[in-house]
Amino acid sequence: MPVLSLDKLVPDYVKRFEPYIPSKPDQELMKLYGCKRLYRLNNNENPLGPPAAALEALGLFQPTGAAVYPSGDSYYLRQKLAALHGLDPDQFLVGNGANEVITFVIKAFCQEGDNIITADKTFAVYEWVAEFSGIEARLVPLKEFTFDDQGMLARAGERTKVFFICNPNNPTGTYWDETRLRRFLDAVAGRQIVVMDEAYCEFVENDDFPDGIKLLEEYPNLIVFRTFSKMYGLAGLRIGYLAGDLKVVDIVRRTCVVYSVNTLAQGAAAAALDDEGHISRTRRLIRAGKIYLRQEFDRLGLESRSGEGCYMMVKLPMSDTLAYRKLMTHGVMVRSMTGFRYPNWIRVSIGSHEAMEAFAGALKKILR
Ligand SMILES: *Cc1c(COP(=O)(O)O)cnc(C)c1O
Repeated sequence: MPVLSLDKLVPDYVKRFEPYIPSKPDQELMKLYGCKRLYRLNNNENPLGPPAAALEALGLFQPTGAAVYPSGDSYYLRQKLAALHGLDPDQFLVGNGANEVITFVIKAFCQEGDNIITADKTFAVYEWVAEFSGIEARLVPLKEFTFDDQGMLARAGERTKVFFICNPNNPTGTYWDETRLRRFLDAVAGRQIVVMDEAYCEFVENDDFPDGIKLLEEYPNLIVFRTFSKMYGLAGLRIGYLAGDLKVVDIVRRTCVVYSVNTLAQGAAAAALDDEGHISRTRRLIRAGKIYLRQEFDRLGLESRSGEGCYMMVKLPMSDTLAYRKLMTHGVMVRSMTGFRYPNWIRVSIGSHEAMEAFAGALKKILR
């Protein structure tokens, strides 16, 4: 048998990188923790599921169609997005989840020696993709739980290519209003690409929240990410997209592998965009869930953060990884936040009232 010389084959930045371990399927977890039911409140999924229009589109899919490749560039979905936002279909690039478009952007703009800038306590995939691609990720600490615009500008250098800003931020729920975003874009002045990850924008009801897509015409270095995984309840189908200036998207398109977005996802996503009622129903549920949880946290004397988005953070008087395991024995799965650099905090997705009661009940038990 030949000797495998992995040591020589693997770049150092890959060796250093610790793989992310996804959670096991429900059935396995229920066996492991001895619970009969499992409320998954770890991934910010929509408790109402997909909109009715998307369900209908999925039902119309002919299984024999599985033999045929999907549209390689999500043709009809991009037509629909373009009509909706008043842009050119070529200003959109659809990916296998917003996660995939993160990799497109880093590949398109960064080479060895370059860096990206984001926050220390935000969605970690920007940092991870940079690092396992051999690109430096400069992490600027949040300020008052919010992306620090001045701090980020101060860290930018000759080799800084992309800023990644999560708006509203996962997990803190804070956001830059339109004035603050414009001030930042004016200061960057086209020297770098600015990505606004708007994965949770559909949950925000405040008037001062900026719609990044509306700013594309004024700021050609802006790229906006959206996903169908959160508000639109299609996380299992893996579909998200970016929008940007025609010239910018033309560059990013070179780094994407065609056919990564399947037929079912494209059809369901296009249909989901028509369902207005779904957004208001979801918002109502999230609002009520936050009010309920805030009361419960206050009653337990726990510090919590409730901003925008379909999640809350709460600080516990014990390690978050221990709390995770204890909550699992009561059939509730949350996100432990050591990985987000918030030790002792957990993030909980807002779910059905039943799920919120189960979570609050379990929390009381583990704190006793
Ligand atoms: C969930 C999430 C994504 C990824 O969404 P997918 O489309 O499911 O890959 C991107 N950004 C943020 C901030 C998220 O929370």
